[in-house]
Amino acid sequence: MARRGVIEIDEQEYPTPTLATIGTEKLRVECKGPRLTYENISEPGGLRVSGSSFFDTDSHEEGAIRVGFRGSPYSDARTDKSGFVFLDNISSIMLDSSRFVEQIVKVKSSNSLLKPLLCSVAGFPHRLAFLAYCGVDVIDTIPLVMAARNGQYLTNHGIIDASSIKEMPCSCEACESDRRDLDHLLRHNQSAAESEMRLVRHAIDHGKLRELVESRVRCDPWLVQNLRLMDITAYQLQEMHAPIKGAPFHAGSKESLNRPDITRWKMRIQERYHRPEGTRILVLIPCSARKPYSLSKSHKRFREAILTSGKAPIVHEVIVTSPLGIVPRELELFYPAKDYDIPVTGHWDRDEKHMVQELVSWLVSSEKYDLVISHLGDEQEPVNSSISDFVDTSGGDPGSRDSLNRLQEVLRDFDVDDRGPVRRSRNLEELRSICRFQFGPAGNALCDGAAIMGRWPNVRMVRDGQQIGMLTAERGMISLTLEGGKVLADAGSYRVEIDDFKPKGNLFAVGVKKADGEIRIGDDVAIVHGKEVRAVGVARMSPVEMELAQRGEAVHIRHAA
Ligand SMILES: [Zn+2]
Repeated sequence: MARRGVIEIDEQEYPTPTLATIGTEKLRVECKGPRLTYENISEPGGLRVSGSSFFDTDSHEEGAIRVGFRGSPYSDARTDKSGFVFLDNISSIMLDSSRFVEQIVKVKSSNSLLKPLLCSVAGFPHRLAFLAYCGVDVIDTIPLVMAARNGQYLTNHGIIDASSIKEMPCSCEACESDRRDLDHLLRHNQSAAESEMRLVRHAIDHGKLRELVESRVRCDPWLVQNLRLMDITAYQLQEMHAPIKGAPFHAGSKESLNRPDITRWKMRIQERYHRPEGTRILVLIPCSARKPYSLSKSHKRFREAILTSGKAPIVHEVIVTSPLGIVPRELELFYPAKDYDIPVTGHWDRDEKHMVQELVSWLVSSEKYDLVISHLGDEQEPVNSSISDFVDTSGGDPGSRDSLNRLQEVLRDFDVDDRGPVRRSRNLEELRSICRFQFGPAGNALCDGAAIMGRWPNVRMVRDGQQIGMLTAERGMISLTLEGGKVLADAGSYRVEIDDFKPKGNLFAVGVKKADGEIRIGDDVAIVHGKEVRAVGVARMSPVEMELAQRGEAVHIRHAA
């Protein structure tokens, strides 16, 4: 839900997320973002704090930009004209995770989604990444001042008692000077927060914020529990805003298992996935550090054993892995299957075991193979204990010559005689599997009657002499042509409905009437007016944003009619 934007106040522009720096006549701190001032100080580009109702006389002048009452329970928000939204009662929900998550869900599920969200009194440097992750755009520096007053030296991984510091762990201007007083702490705390905020913006730009958040929450139990609760109870909200294709990431913490894009993978497998038609033998194999897996040495050996058995056309390779659970071979290019990295110790914890067991059992029971082969290493125990009626060919050492020979023999001995002819090529069925995973049931329609041209994985889908889409190794998913967009629109999904005009260049949100709910940022969509497909392109907003926003690029158009 984190986002980059610009807030414009009195013709001054500030990139968001940003700090709003508290400033009074006594307290002048350098700042790059908007300055937060009290009612009686006016400064261009500043945000003014409204008075609390304790002092509320007749100060509600018309036209003033007020940033509300900082969520004070004594305040009166009726006079708020700022256009901001606030986290209410932030000081009381700060340590109450379920109420915190409730508030985020409430604000981000409402029509206020696009308004800048302001969070007051909570922005210590180590919390900025998490707050931005929850979609907070403006964070005031009141806590930095309070901390300075309390002798607290702030860092991006927690709070240090300033009097205990022998050597300043920072080289900002204030720390390099000899002053060790309130002014030093004020300026250092401000600088620490400003640096962290820049890092947060960088991380958002590069799709790396989740990793930053997972590392920052470590220093504060409140943050850990908040993140975990966000992942459990606000999954749907987060998933709606999570791009379908993101940046490569390191899944290095327990929280990584529940990243919204990881959870989406696991759910989508169970909701949309079916094995390629014609496959009869399931071979479960371990993942490899190298991605895509098929380029790794170990997978080349598995492949060779399968090919020399003569049964390759009916073998379905499925990779067992944490944190994704299972990756069917044909989906190995689809985000995040080739974009994650995990620490490998050979020991699986309970959550990981449970997760792979659930997915493997689902696969085996729902897809009904004639033969199941477990050719696993460290995953052998949790997987084997969750399925019955299978052959173990690895003995826990899948790469050894003996194991590979065993795999080859078991496959070779599998009798196919009475089960119909073996197809020579499965490319279309594998593509169908990708299409279904990407587009749901509409993916089937795309593949009906289609032929494949080119060399896997860079293949084109052609129907009646016309190209309808293509798969590329780099994107790992299907890119549609206008003809492909028509199939999607006929199937009634992934449509963005527009007014009666011909989109050129890009489609801006103001032209969008309605967007189908399954669209995610990065998805291929059909731009339609009524039944007519006017263009195809890549979604740049979530469907709610497309419908709410009055500006901004909604779809990046690839082909227009
Ligand atoms: Zn410093």
